Amino acid sequence: MSAPPTISPTDAETTLQELNLELNRLQRTIRLTIQEQLTKLVGCSFDDLKLNRELAESIHQLLESHGLRVQCMECGHPAILRVLPRGDSGGVFVFDHTIDGKRTFHGGRKTVPMIRLVAKPPRKTRRTSTQA
Ligand SMILES: [Zn+2]
Repeated sequence: MSAPPTISPTDAETTLQELNLELNRLQRTIRLTIQEQLTKLVGCSFDDLKLNRELAESIHQLLESHGLRVQCMECGHPAILRVLPRGDSGGVFVFDHTIDGKRTFHGGRKTVPMIRLVAKPPRKTRRTSTQA
C-alpha cells in the first residue's frame, strides 16, 4: 500500500470552508424556494378541520426535514404551524412555540398566516453554542 496523498491542514480547512459556503448558498436557495411556494397558501383554508390539520402537518414535516421553522408573526420566535379546533369551523392556524420555558400559542387566524422561514433553533438552551 502506498502512502495516502497528503493534504496540509490549511488546504483541508479551505476545502471545508468552501464546502460550507456552498452549502449555505444551497440552503438559502432551498429556504427561499420553500417560502415562495408556501406563500401561495397564505390566506387560504380548507373549511374542514381535518384537512387544515393535515396541511399544517405536511408543512411542518417539510420544514422539519430541512431544519426550518416558521417565524411567529407576533413575537418573532421560531414556531411550528398548527391548527387548533375552534367552534365548528375548520379550526385556526396558530404558531406553537416555547417562550420562557412555557408552551405558547400565538396567532389564531382561520387561514394560513404569512409564512417566513427561519432556521430551527438548537434543541437545548442556546447558551453554549453561539460562543465562537
Ligand atoms: Zn409568538
